Amino acid sequence: MIRLYNTLSRAVEDFIPREEGKVQMYTCGPTVYHFAHIGNLRTYMMEDVLEKMLRFSGYNVKRVMNITDVGHLTSDGDTGEDKMLKGAKREKKTVLEIAEFYKNAFFSDCEKLNIKKPDVIEPATQCISEFIKTIEGLIEKGFAYIADGNVYFDTSKVKDYNALTGHSSDELMVGVREDVTEDTSKKNKSDFVLWFTKSKFDDQELKWDSPWGVGYPGWHIECSCISMKHCGEYLDIHCGGVDNIFPHHTNEIAQSEAYLGHKWCNYWFHVHHLNDETGKMSKSKGEFLTVSLLESKGYNPLAYRFFCLQSHYRKPLVFSYEALDQASATYNKLLKKIASIKDEGEIDEAFVQRVRADFIKSVGNDMNTALGITAIYNILKADVNGASKLDALKAIDEVLSLDLVKEAAKEAPVEKSELELEIEALIAERAQAKKDKNFARADEIRNSLKERGITLLDTREGTTYTIE
Ligand code: AMP
Ligand code: ZN
Repeated sequence: MIRLYNTLSRAVEDFIPREEGKVQMYTCGPTVYHFAHIGNLRTYMMEDVLEKMLRFSGYNVKRVMNITDVGHLTSDGDTGEDKMLKGAKREKKTVLEIAEFYKNAFFSDCEKLNIKKPDVIEPATQCISEFIKTIEGLIEKGFAYIADGNVYFDTSKVKDYNALTGHSSDELMVGVREDVTEDTSKKNKSDFVLWFTKSKFDDQELKWDSPWGVGYPGWHIECSCISMKHCGEYLDIHCGGVDNIFPHHTNEIAQSEAYLGHKWCNYWFHVHHLNDETGKMSKSKGEFLTVSLLESKGYNPLAYRFFCLQSHYRKPLVFSYEALDQASATYNKLLKKIASIKDEGEIDEAFVQRVRADFIKSVGNDMNTALGITAIYNILKADVNGASKLDALKAIDEVLSLDLVKEAAKEAPVEKSELELEIEALIAERAQAKKDKNFARADEIRNSLKERGITLLDTREGTTYTIE
C-alpha cells in the first residue's frame, strides 16, 4: 500500500486509485523558454520517484506531461509578457525554434538524471481546438464571461475555489500580484484569463483564430485540457512544484470541475523548492544552476540525484557545492562498496522479495527516499551471498535510479585474462634481461611472442603490444 501526502486534504492518506491497478497521473511540464534549473529538476526527479514507486508496487501507470510553449506569462497570474516570447526575443529566434531547442535540452537533462520520459508528452500549441471547445463549454455553463476582448473564468461561480490552499485568494494574491497593475476588466480579483485577444503585450508571435477573435490561450487552461484529452474525465494524481498550488492548480481545479460537473482529481502531490544559499533559485540572477554546469565542474549528474534523494520532497532543500560534494563523496564510497561485491552464488529469492516488500513499506510511505538510501546500506550489510545482494540492489534501483550496479562496474578493477598476465610477465622479464645486458634472452622473448602474433612496441612510456 502506497501512502501519500495529499495537498487537498492536508494529510497523508492511503493511495487508492479509481480503477484497481491503474493510475492516471498528470505532471505540469516545463515552460520551454530557457534551460531548466536544478530546482525545476528536483521536482521532476521526485515525481519520477513517485511514478516508479507506483509501478514498483504493481500499478499500471499512465503519465501525461504538457509542454508549455505558449501562454505562460511572466507573472503566475495573467499579467506580464509571455515567457516564450521573452525567450525568443532574448535569443533572436522564433518562438517555435526556442520551444524545440529547450524541449530537447529539458529531456536531455532528464536523461542524465535518469528521469523517465512520461508516456504522453503534449505541447500546448498542439491542443488549441481542445482549449477552445472547453472555453466554449465554460461560457455556455455560465462559468466564464467576455470582457474587453478577453475570456475570463468567474471564480465567484465555484463553490470551494480555495479548497487546495485552505487560504483566501486575497491572502495568496499578495505575492503573485506584487508590482502588477490591477486588471479592471475582471469581475473578481481572483478571476483569470482563459483566452486572450488583448493583452498589454499584443505583439504575441503565435496566435489562433477563435470565436472571440484572434488570440492565444491562458496558461491554466492547457493543463486541464491536456489531462482530459489523454486521461478522460478523472485523474488520480496531479503533480507539480509547490509554487503551482496557487494560482495554477487552484485554477485548474476550478475550471475542470466547472466543465465536467464533478470532482476531477483525488490526489495532489507537490514538491518543495530547492533554494540556493541566497534564497530563491533563479534563471536570470546569480549563477544559473543547470545540470550542464554541474557536469562542467566535474560532478556526475547522478550524485545530484543522490543529493536530492537524501531529503524528503516535502521539505525545502538548500543547494550548496559543499553539500553536493558531501553527497558526491558518499555516493562514490557506496559505489566502491558495491564494486567489491562478487557476483557469486545462487540468488536468494526470498531475501530479494523481502527487500522489495520492505522498500514499498518504508519508501512508499509518502516517498521517504532517505529510507531508500538506508535500504542500500542494509542490503550491503545483509548476511547473504553476492548474487543476492546485487539482485536486491538492482530491484530497488528500479525506483531510486542511481545506476548503482552499472556505475559501480566502472569502479571495479578490470580483470585481466591469462594471456594478458602472461604477456605482461614476459615484458617484465625482457626489460630485466635488457638491463642485465642479456640481449639474447630479450630477443628470444620478442621473437617467440611475434610467432604467436603478438608484437611488442617500445615507447617512451614503456613497452606495449598489439595482438593480431
Ligand atoms: P516552469 O518551467 O517554470 O513551469 O517550472 C517547472 C516545474 O518546476 C514546476 O513544477 C515548478 O513548480 C517547479 N519549480 C520551479 N522552481 C522550483 C524550485 N526552485 N525548486 C523545485 N521546483 C521548482
Ligand atoms: Zn500545469
